[in-house]
Parts: sequence; structure tokens; C-alpha cells
Amino acid sequence: MVYDAKENRYEIMRYRRCGNSGLKLPEISLGLWHNFGGVDCYETGCETVLSAFDAGVCHFDLANNYGPPPGSAEITFGRIMKENLLPYRDEIIISTKAGYGMWPGPYGEWGSRKYLIASLDASLKRLGLDYVDIFYSHRPDPDTPVEETMTALADIVRQGKALYAGISNYSAEQSAKAISVLRSLGVPCLIHQASYSMLNRWIEDGLLDVLEKEGTGCICFSPLAQGLLTGRYLNGAVPAGSRASKGVFLKASSITPELLNKLNALNDIAKEGGRTLSSLAILWILRDKRNTSVLIGASSAVQLKENLSAVSQPPLSAEELEKIEGILCQP
Ligand code: NDP
Repeated sequence: MVYDAKENRYEIMRYRRCGNSGLKLPEISLGLWHNFGGVDCYETGCETVLSAFDAGVCHFDLANNYGPPPGSAEITFGRIMKENLLPYRDEIIISTKAGYGMWPGPYGEWGSRKYLIASLDASLKRLGLDYVDIFYSHRPDPDTPVEETMTALADIVRQGKALYAGISNYSAEQSAKAISVLRSLGVPCLIHQASYSMLNRWIEDGLLDVLEKEGTGCICFSPLAQGLLTGRYLNGAVPAGSRASKGVFLKASSITPELLNKLNALNDIAKEGGRTLSSLAILWILRDKRNTSVLIGASSAVQLKENLSAVSQPPLSAEELEKIEGILCQP
């Protein structure tokens, strides 16, 4: 059946300007790190992406290594685009990244010009696209001069293979340097992609200040702490098929009784406000205007729908924020 996007797709989602740029991003974006690989069910992934687009989620985030196997999430997304979304290409922001291991030898990872340019060319082939909207340096490289990495990003933008440049996982200090080098090359740093959630608040300690001062946006990844800040584990069990059951990126052993107490206390606040824990976690990130977008993952359209309920709700009240702070500050 030919996909026909919902006409009312922009009515509920809200959009925030990304730093000082001209680009707006949806308050909730969808990432394809998990659930969209060659090992996953294509139909489920396709349904999740199309439900997102129908709800105004017009930003999809990828990286060269997303799968498994590495590269296959880009192939999946390329197929979804080709079969459904190509007529809507101008409504969609697609990002990809390079930084982690993709092929053997000294040019298969990190931040050299050789690696970044070859990797983006391979990503574009897998995606079946002429350009991506945002291309990121996925992690800082301790051995490559930041000038080389940023010059590669700037050249990629000038060549039209990406419309904007971004950085991910750079510290506050590394970000300030990278942003300044990019600016000197005439290409602003659009965005920083950083981990952030109620359980991981490192960006509050300097990075957000740097980004605000420089006019760079911030998109927050793993906002649900990979599923911990949802209803998935609240009763202490690890459901079959959940990320914690796979034990690679989220370990069942990290779900301690202390953490469960905290999650359940947060869930009580969510319930009092008529929300789910995941929507509370998303609205908590959106309380800070410097956070442009919340970059969630979802293994089904049902999970996605629950998470998207956040944008139909009012912002968290001062009273709710205070209660949450009290819980997060407990040891
Ligand atoms: P989240 O913290 O949003 O975790 C998503 C996972 O939580 C889902 O796959 C699902 O796991 C579970 N989940 C989500 N919603 C619900 C729900 N309503 N009920 C129950 N379980 C739910 O984000 P991710 O860690 O997936 O990261 C999001 C994106 O961020 C990535 O796809 C990627 O684009 C980006 N990212 C970037 C990184 C970087 O270095 N730049 C690193 C990591 C992520 P399950 O069903 O499998 O249990």
C-alpha cells in the first residue's frame, strides 16, 4: 500500500530552534541505534518510523555503525525512505555520524579526514540519498588534531554532502575548541549530541553553558536511560526481549533495589500528574530551553506513541520539578 502521511502531522508536535541557526527540530526526535538493524523486523521498524512522521517527528538520527550488523540501520532507513518517504524528503532532517569502528586498519574509525569522508560516502550509498542534513563527528579523537576533523566536516558541508555539521560526545572544553575551529572555517557548529537524562546529568556541568554561549543546539540522547525511565523495569523483572535482557548496552545488574526505589518514586510523581514515567522523563529534559530536542529510541510504535504523549501535556510545574529534584538528589 502506498504510504500517505497524515495531513494533521504538524498540529501537535512543537518545534524548537536549534541554537542560533535557522533550523527548527521537533521536541522529540527518533534515533535508530537499536531496533532497526538487519537482525530486526523491517515491518516493525517501518511502522515505528512512519508513525513518528505522522506525529510530526521529522528528525531521524543514524550513525554509520548502527545495526547490527554495522551499517544495516542506514540500509533499513534507506528502504523506508525509498518505499514511503521520498516524496517527503524536504520535510525530513536525517543525520548520520562517523567516529566508531567500521572497517579494519588505521582508517576505519576516529576522526581523520580520510575516515570521515569515506564513511559519509558509504553512509549515503546505504541510505540511497545524495545528502544528509546533519553530519556528526561521533566522538573526539585524542590523536587527530581537531583542526583536521573540523576541516573535514566543513568541506563535507561545502561539498553539499551534508547541510549542517555537528559534534557528539565532546566535553565542554573540547566542544568550545571544535566550535571555534568550525566558525573560523565559516561553517557554524549546528548541534551537539550528548547523553542526558534524569539519571545522567553531566551536561549541566559546563557543556550547556558553552553551547548557549556559542549558539549551538543540544540534542539529548538516551533520555529514557535506555528504558530505565519507562514502565519497563518498575517491578524489578527484566522482560524477555528488553534491552536489559540482552545485557550488552544495559546490564540487568545495573537495576539495583536503590535504583528501583528511585524509579518508582519518579513514577508516583508521574502518575499524580496523569503522566507516564517516560513522558515525565521527556518533559523534564524539555524544561531547559537550551535542549533543542529529546532523541528517543523505541522498539515499537506502541512505545513511541506512549513517549509522544509528552508533547500533548503541559510543561512540568515548579512543584513537580522540586519533587523530582528531591528524588534525584537522594544517594
Ligand atoms: P532511550 O533512552 O529513549 O531508550 C530507548 C529504549 O527504551 C527503547 O529501545 C526501548 O527498549 C525502551 N523504551 C522506550 N520507550 C519505552 C516505553 N514507552 N515503554 C517501555 N520501554 C520503552 O534512547 P536510546 O538509548 O535508544 O538512544 C536514542 C537515540 O540516541 C539512539 O537511537 C541514537 O540515535 C542516539 N544515541 C546516540 C549516541 C551517541 O553516541 N551520539 C549513543 C546512544 C544513542 P527495549 O524495548 O528494547 O527494552
